[in-house]
Amino acid sequence: MALNQKKSKELFKKAKRIMPGGVNSPVRAFRAVGGTPLFIDSAKGSKIYDVDGNEFIDYVLSWGPMILGHSHPKVVNALKKAAEKGTSFGAPTPLEVELAAMVRKAYPSMEIIRMVNSGTEAAMSAIRAARGFTGRDRIVKFEGCYHGHADGILVQAGSGAATFGVPTSPGVPKDYARNTITLPYNDLRAFRNICKKTGKNIACVIIEPVVGNSGCILPKPGYLEGLRKITRQYGIVLIFDEVMTGFRISYGGAQKAFKIKPDMTCLGKVIGGGLPVGAYGGKKEIMSRIAPDGPVYQAGTLSGNPLAMTAGIETLKILSRPETYKKLMAKSMALEEGMKDAAKRAGIQTRFYRAGTMFCTYFTDREVHNFSDAAKTDMAAFAAFFRKMLERGVNLAPSGYEAGFMSLAHSQADINRTVRAAYASFREIK
Ligand SMILES: *Cc1c(COP(=O)(O)O)cnc(C)c1O
Repeated sequence: MALNQKKSKELFKKAKRIMPGGVNSPVRAFRAVGGTPLFIDSAKGSKIYDVDGNEFIDYVLSWGPMILGHSHPKVVNALKKAAEKGTSFGAPTPLEVELAAMVRKAYPSMEIIRMVNSGTEAAMSAIRAARGFTGRDRIVKFEGCYHGHADGILVQAGSGAATFGVPTSPGVPKDYARNTITLPYNDLRAFRNICKKTGKNIACVIIEPVVGNSGCILPKPGYLEGLRKITRQYGIVLIFDEVMTGFRISYGGAQKAFKIKPDMTCLGKVIGGGLPVGAYGGKKEIMSRIAPDGPVYQAGTLSGNPLAMTAGIETLKILSRPETYKKLMAKSMALEEGMKDAAKRAGIQTRFYRAGTMFCTYFTDREVHNFSDAAKTDMAAFAAFFRKMLERGVNLAPSGYEAGFMSLAHSQADINRTVRAAYASFREIK
């Protein structure tokens, strides 16, 4: 039942001669699961179509942004109109004010907001603001949390207790990495200990409140509350990187769902409705340090771009309707129940985790609470599962460390088909 990937294979061959790994973002290359990536021709609603004419139910959704489903008519029409008025001005527009106001209404902790072009920029700039505000250099991040590819955060500690940064990626100067402390997620004691040692030198803690970049890892009860309390004691800026969880876990993100008020927040993905956007913001006293109000420099030629703002505004308009999240949650819950039931019937050990509309299946018989738990799950089983699902017309993210996403466009029929495919695939790889 192998897929016909003739055209994708030809394109991949050409692409590899001209781009690193043939791609513009590494996981797209399918290295973790083997085979040839799908070269996409188009997408509509819950479906994505490759250049060979294959159709897939899509749970990648451009890695999160397409929460309304692909090419939503309201978004596409608004984009057409916006494009006709001009695609970039390098000057303020009413659209930026409108989107910022919508974001602040959903995230009241973001008193002042700056738009940027990606989640990477948002996280990088939020950290710079926190350093500028506190006058401290050190930052704390957590294993398995991704905050984009800026130098100082491409760092991952070894296992065990708190380790001072060793650069994970060549090209990151040791001097940068030295200021990044990496700790295990869900381990409040490790954080308390590092604060006792060097808390007064730590500018900020940056965290994915639910870890979506090692699958889908939920915070233990009290963990986020503990971080909030300790950071306050030491004057450390608490940054929630909600680039993935923002408008995904709930309209108000993880901070609304877990009732925690961070000092700063990073957004991206959904707020761009499929166009390149990021945003960061937080307390007035911190954000007033940003240029031109203050000395912390941060800028962008295309920041607040009218097309990106338009896609974001139209997306949030639909998301802010009262029934939208009820529908999204019902669909996500139906998928969860179906997937758990399929695994049980097939007699295979998996753990399915879900936070709102993001989810992940781990192949393991143990609970997953942090990155090292995730790393111990059976990634070969995931890769086999991924390939079987693809052959059956279901597009999952091509790595066991990635989350899947639900959209408003996924129908009960899509979910049923997904669950049937999962049951058959589970049985085959058992
Ligand atoms: C995707 C992601 C980023 C990076 O965003 P880009 O737009 O890819 O630069 C940062 N943080 C988190 C939590 C993300 O999921």
